[in-house]
Amino acid sequence: MAFELPSLPYAFDALEPWIDEQTMRTHHGKHHATYVDNLNNAVAGTAFEDMEVTAILKKLYTVPDEIRAAVRNNGGGHANHTLFWETMGPNGGAPSGPLADGIAGAFGSLDDCKSSFNAAAMARFGSGWAWLVARLDGSLLIYSTPNQDGPYTQTGDTPLLGLDVWEHAYYLKYQNRRAEYVENWWNVVNWDVVAARYASAVG
Ligand code: MN
Repeated sequence: MAFELPSLPYAFDALEPWIDEQTMRTHHGKHHATYVDNLNNAVAGTAFEDMEVTAILKKLYTVPDEIRAAVRNNGGGHANHTLFWETMGPNGGAPSGPLADGIAGAFGSLDDCKSSFNAAAMARFGSGWAWLVARLDGSLLIYSTPNQDGPYTQTGDTPLLGLDVWEHAYYLKYQNRRAEYVENWWNVVNWDVVAARYASAVG
């Protein structure tokens, strides 16, 4: 069964004014779709066709040399963007419950967590992602990855938040102003989804 581009769980203009409709249409319908197409082409006729993309990434070392780079880049792109769309929503807000406690325990406060996350997003030279992950022991960690690499290839890490800092994610609206995009992105984080990921990671 081929990998498929998932539908957005909201309208293309639902994240306005923080993320514009045209960026969402292009990012989802062109960039993410291309990762899906390229992943399908790479794994056609192999056993990887029938696996979850995150399961493939967790065992990237089992992918044959001749398609490993394609799977790493396009499988990573498919997994990262799928998580990215689900991480966002029009309502914003702030975390509560165990997730809020976990963030306060790890970083001191939500603002301190955001500052560290934003710094990771800004320090990523070129294209990549910033992440908040839960580690195997339940602790929280922030880091960034280049290109379409991500937490799935880091043993035991569960991504809670992922922010795309490729220029294609913000250039139409923000041009070179990555810091403004990163700061504004917090307005569209769906904390209910993040809390659910945290609960299943530490549960
Ligand atoms: Mn992207």
